[in-house]
Amino acid sequence: MHCPFCNNDETKVIDSRLAGEGWQVRRRRECQQCDERYTTFETAELVMPHVIKRDDSREPFDQIKLRSGILRALEKRPVKSEDIEKSIERVTHLLQTMGEREVSGRLIGDMVMEELRKLDQVAYVRYASVYRSFQDITEFQKEIEKLQSLPGPVNREQMSLLSDDES
Ligand SMILES: [Zn+2]
Repeated sequence: MHCPFCNNDETKVIDSRLAGEGWQVRRRRECQQCDERYTTFETAELVMPHVIKRDDSREPFDQIKLRSGILRALEKRPVKSEDIEKSIERVTHLLQTMGEREVSGRLIGDMVMEELRKLDQVAYVRYASVYRSFQDITEFQKEIEKLQSLPGPVNREQMSLLSDDES
């Protein structure tokens, strides 16, 4: 690359090391002409897929949207923000490494549901009820039954919160 000081195109890499927790390579370069040194960072260009929406339109993946959906489901729930951030990171990273140009919104929703199921059951059902927009009460019931059959049954406090949401 061209030297940012003198524009000469002969530069030499004098040091390379990992940076950014191993996601970047940091290189020290030295210009062969003016001897100035500078640093470059190299990262893999991973393109986020576009999201195919219900009406078949496409939009760029938006992490802010993902986060706000997750946070809405987790409102006033006893979940550490550190754990929430890890979930958001996991979904984003998964989407990034799938190598798909387009993914369905449904798939992202399923990934989020999987994360919420691990974080908080109330949030899980909240999200499911909005996202899946349950057609009827039997579908909703099925989701509750699925939860109850998993380890750590939904307790009374959680059930009362759920009925609050339904009103
Ligand atoms: Zn130079």
